[in-house]
Amino acid sequence: MAQVMTATRAAGQARLEQFSAKMGRDYAQGRNFDRGPAAHQDVSMLSAYIRRRLITEPEVIATAIKTQGAEASAKFIDEVIWRSYFKGWLEQRPEVWNNYTAGLRQDLAALEGDVGLRQAVHAAETAQTGLDYFDSWAAELIETGYLHNHARMWFASIWIFTLKLPWRLGADFFLKNLLDGDPASNTLSWRWVAGLHTRGKPYVAQASNIARFTEERFVPRAQELTQSASGLEALEPDGLPECNPPRVPNAPQLHLPTAILFTEEDCRIEDFPFRDLICTAAATLAASPLRSPRDVAQLVVRFEAGALADVAQRSGLAVSATQIGAPSDLARWALQSGAQQIVTPYVPVGPLRDWLARAQPELEAAGISLTEWRRDWDAMVWPHATAGFFKVKKQIPKFLRTICA
Ligand SMILES: Cc1cc2nc3c(=O)[nH]c(=O)nc-3n(C[C@H](O)[C@H](O)[C@H](O)COP(=O)(O)OP(=O)(O)OC[C@H]3O[C@@H](n4cnc5c(N)ncnc54)[C@H](O)[C@@H]3O)c2cc1C
Repeated sequence: MAQVMTATRAAGQARLEQFSAKMGRDYAQGRNFDRGPAAHQDVSMLSAYIRRRLITEPEVIATAIKTQGAEASAKFIDEVIWRSYFKGWLEQRPEVWNNYTAGLRQDLAALEGDVGLRQAVHAAETAQTGLDYFDSWAAELIETGYLHNHARMWFASIWIFTLKLPWRLGADFFLKNLLDGDPASNTLSWRWVAGLHTRGKPYVAQASNIARFTEERFVPRAQELTQSASGLEALEPDGLPECNPPRVPNAPQLHLPTAILFTEEDCRIEDFPFRDLICTAAATLAASPLRSPRDVAQLVVRFEAGALADVAQRSGLAVSATQIGAPSDLARWALQSGAQQIVTPYVPVGPLRDWLARAQPELEAAGISLTEWRRDWDAMVWPHATAGFFKVKKQIPKFLRTICA
């Protein structure tokens, strides 16, 4: 049985501290090597914590600068900012998420009527394709909830170009199994592999690259893999949707009775002025089952439950634990407590945002406003995520100055 990560801020901080010595040269030299389960020594495995903001991007970057210096840890800092880039990019093009969810429902429906495709997807998801490397990554993902970045790239590429399976089903397989499963990083990375993000430049996995960066744990035969392929741009002939500025959330009003909602979108509540509010109720909302129309892995559900219990405990408030249900539950919960507004840390584009949108009519009818705290980091980085990563990268010195200030 794989060792499961503990879903608390303290565990995230401990991992951060432990990895800080490797954020410089070790990371730059070793980060591309997938050394296999329980041996991922040159990457941080911090993503499940960062994804829930049990630890935040500025904290992680500040640690890198403090321990290794900004120059030596530049590669690591870039990677952390890739996450912020993807979040900002999707915030400004929510249609890409909407099209993904609608397309996924169609892909799942198509499985019903296509036995061959259903069997092929089943084999890929249950480590039975006969490609030992691919099967080994599928098994690692299911057992541990984690995959090395390079393995994710190879897996997605083989799924799309060698096995020729629908990309959204692969993205869904990841999202429902990854402890760090994130609507932006996951959807946009799969799109990047497919040649839909950097259009016309798909990522096609090469046997020699797999052999080199697994240190020959796996040596695929070149002919087993599709070695050159054009991307899937033909599926989206109209190109990318227009980019609109990030959504500006309603700000909380200090004088109103308030129900505070904690979700896995941001578990570092201490960064927000929640003690200044007139709090009528507080609750955690476990929403990870929304990640997929299919069953979400128990590892993911348990990690989320741990993270929410941790944020509840750190808040020092009397917090009830709730599970995702009908969107109308939200207005009912707030009304019962006498609240006139709900406050939550910002909920970015993804399944929970969709659920909140469905809750909006009842909230409005009950006269309850849904308000959010947005982080300065997001407000600073996201507006630059309008095109490729390079535009964001150019701003990194400016971002770092705010961290070091
Ligand atoms: C097909 C595919 C799907 C992916 N799905 C997800 C996902 O659902 N959630 C997710 O957090 N990441 C996703 N990634 C990005 C990346 O693989 C993971 O963030 C990274 O492997 C996490 O491991 P780590 O913490 O050891 O990373 P490290 O290499 O130690 O990096 C430190 C941190 O930087 C961030 N980061 C690193 N690489 C990337 C990247 N390429 N894109 C975005 N952020 C990055 C993460 O927050 C990570 O914790 C995906 C990549 C691919 C190719």
